[in-house]
Formats: sequence, C-alpha cells, structure tokens
Amino acid sequence: MSSIRQRYRALRSQVPEAVTIVLAAKTRTLDEVREALDAGATDFGHNYVQEAAAMIAALGADASRARWHMIGHLQKNKINQALPLFDVVQTVDSFKSAEAIDKRVERAGKQNLPILLEINVAGETAKAGLTPEQHEPFEPYLLDLVRQIASLQHVRLDGLMTMGPAHGDAEAMRPYFQRVRRWLEACRSLHLPAAPMSVLSMGMTESYEVAIEEGSTMIRVGTLVFGEREV
Ligand SMILES: *Cc1c(COP(=O)(O)O)cnc(C)c1O
Repeated sequence: MSSIRQRYRALRSQVPEAVTIVLAAKTRTLDEVREALDAGATDFGHNYVQEAAAMIAALGADASRARWHMIGHLQKNKINQALPLFDVVQTVDSFKSAEAIDKRVERAGKQNLPILLEINVAGETAKAGLTPEQHEPFEPYLLDLVRQIASLQHVRLDGLMTMGPAHGDAEAMRPYFQRVRRWLEACRSLHLPAAPMSVLSMGMTESYEVAIEEGSTMIRVGTLVFGEREV
C-alpha cells in the first residue's frame, strides 16, 4: 500500500514541472490534506465553499502554504464567503458570473482575483460551464466574452477550465481537449493584459496524461493521490 505522500511525490516527478497539480480535496479528511501538504502539494481544489471554509480554518497557518481553487459551481449567494478563502475561481461561466465576482473582490480585501472560464466542452446538460452548442458559432462568442470580462477591474482572466465528457476513456477525451486548447490559443492571441489566457486547467485521474499531451498546464486530481472516494 502506497501512501498519499508517495503517490503525490510520484505524480509530481512524473508530470512536467510547468504543470500545476491541483489536488481535488472533496470529501477528504484534514489528515489526508495535511499529509499531501507535508509531501509538498502546492494547490488544492474544493467543490463546496462550506467544506473549504472548515478545512482552511482547521489548517490555520498551514493553509497559507497552499493555493486554494474553487472548482465547483459558485452560487451567487456564496461569493462573499468564498472570496476570502480562494486564490483562484475556476468555474466562471458567463459575463454575469464574472461581474458578480468582480463587484465583491475589493470587499474581500483582494485585487486582481485570478479566474478561469469553465467550458462544458461535451455539452452535457448536467454539467456546469459555458456550453459551446448554445452559442454557435462559438469562437467569436468566446472572444467577445473574453473581451468583456477583461474590461472588469478586479478580476484577471487567466485561462480556461474544462471537465471533458463524463463517460469514455481518456483517448475519447482527446478531441475535446484539443478543441479547448485551440480556443485558449485564440483567446490568448487577443493579447489583453487583463486576460493573459496562459492557464489550461484540464485532466483528472483518468485523463491527465492525455490532457498534458494536449497542452494542459494544470491538472486536477483526487483519486490518483488520495485513493478511491467512499462517497
Ligand atoms: C473531483 C474533481 C476532480 C478530480 O477527480 P478525480 O477523478 O478524483 O481525479 C477534478 N475536477 C473537479 C471539478 C472535480 O470535482
């Protein structure tokens, strides 16, 4: 039986240095997260504001050794609670949601909050994110949206995040990952200072290798490091 520490270290040495590893901490215990921190983990993702708040409070000063990413859907009525906790919000899916965050960043004592736009690339209705099919032709729509978000004063649009289709093996995800990467490059070529578009958050336990081959700069893994979830 390998430990969280060994699995994190093995993964860290396997993936390119430039790829950020975000450990998805949903349902994990404080001890598990502490073990990952002690192994050198730099970034954690949470799906729920409440869960993140409890964990960050319990970690105390140790929490500041890591960056905290919101990777679940952020409800408008949770933004004020979320902003002091998170260093990055990965799940912005519209101008409205970016604007709702932007309005509240200063009050949370922050500036230039890094955000990512979440793309529901497989168009699965159950998933959050911006759905390309609903905005055809998508690329011009996306570029307009990026320009709009870049006009906001208190957020910085760092890139795109995607989940990929829920079913199918990693190889089946490749064309979806390629599509999102092309969109990222189109956005980056706008050269907007408030939207550097250098981050591509894609790839999970089953798909991170393919995602990295297709240009991911940030993988989000839970099971691979923490083990199977019980719930
Ligand atoms: C849980 C989760 C992950 C990681 O999933 P694993 O399959 O356990 O690696 C990645 N991204 C999001 C948004 C998640 O909720």
